[in-house]
Amino acid sequence: MRAQVQENHGEPIVSRERPEPVAAPGEVVLNVLAAGLNHLDLWLQQGDTGDSLSLPRVPGTDVLGEVIALGEGVAADLLGERVLVYPGRSCGTCDFCQAGHPSACRRFEIMGYSYDGGYAEQIAVPAGSVVSVGADAPLSWAAVPVSYITAWNALVVKGGLTAGKVAVIWGATGGLGNAAVKIAEALGAHVVAIVGSEEKALWLSSSGFSGDILVRGDDLVKRVRAVTGGRGVDLVLDHVGSATWNDSLRMLAVRGHLAFCGVTTGYSVETDLRQIFGKQLTIAGTWIGDPADLEAVVSLLQKHPEALPVVQNSFTLDDAAAAQETLADPSGNGKTILRCQAQDAFAPAFATAKEFRRDG
Ligand SMILES: [Zn+2]
Repeated sequence: MRAQVQENHGEPIVSRERPEPVAAPGEVVLNVLAAGLNHLDLWLQQGDTGDSLSLPRVPGTDVLGEVIALGEGVAADLLGERVLVYPGRSCGTCDFCQAGHPSACRRFEIMGYSYDGGYAEQIAVPAGSVVSVGADAPLSWAAVPVSYITAWNALVVKGGLTAGKVAVIWGATGGLGNAAVKIAEALGAHVVAIVGSEEKALWLSSSGFSGDILVRGDDLVKRVRAVTGGRGVDLVLDHVGSATWNDSLRMLAVRGHLAFCGVTTGYSVETDLRQIFGKQLTIAGTWIGDPADLEAVVSLLQKHPEALPVVQNSFTLDDAAAAQETLADPSGNGKTILRCQAQDAFAPAFATAKEFRRDG
């Protein structure tokens, strides 16, 4: 079978023939219908991330597949199911793993980064890691796992977001930010989306978003507070880092929650501690969630298909290197996926019609 392989840091991924996977006991083999791209791809490509990475590696953390073979001990009714894969593995025996929180395990590893992922025609995965999404699930589901699990964990598990609350989402057109926007709206929350430019604001409003959009700039905190009549917001999802940390604290209402999961702009910052105890804030560090979060997200998306990812770009598996170039473009919005079957028998179907096909 064909797979895309990161063989050396600093170089584009290359197409290679690999043996077809076999289902070990407890595993299933999937035909990969589509795989979603993530910034993890770029980190793997660059190397030098502080993580111990070994090459060669097949990237691909987000996988939508169809079960084509069952290993020993796997329930027969999984055969033929269209599924998403929980993209992590862990020791399985520590207290966190036993409690259903493998993402907190010290041996937690991410698929497509620390072990081979879905940029391939087929992949073998543990049967316990797949969640059925329905026979008609469109390929845009492939862009769900990492972004939506992370957003769900931040908003709902850590942030306590429910219908009627007001949430600020920084970077609302990126993978994580837009997943958070979609989840929060599907839950019935009011979203204040912060974007970096007028172009991104236009893109967001054309994607079906119905909340408030604020472009970064002067008086941002004042403008956020104005949306809530001066009260402040219930939740801020901040995945930006030191550049936004203090503004995030100032936007929050009394008893607000800050869900924090990124240091792109730096990790050292001076904080007025009165903001925290004076307003009785809750600050939660957060990153990728657990298998139960994937199940919760799938259940939400089945009731709210309008909350599926906006797939902006779609490429064939062979064009993976070109697809990865879209990740590095900071003006990009929405998600990019690879269609991984040679005959491309599965007609692409997306949350929006804004598809750009590299292969014409
Ligand atoms: Zn563990």
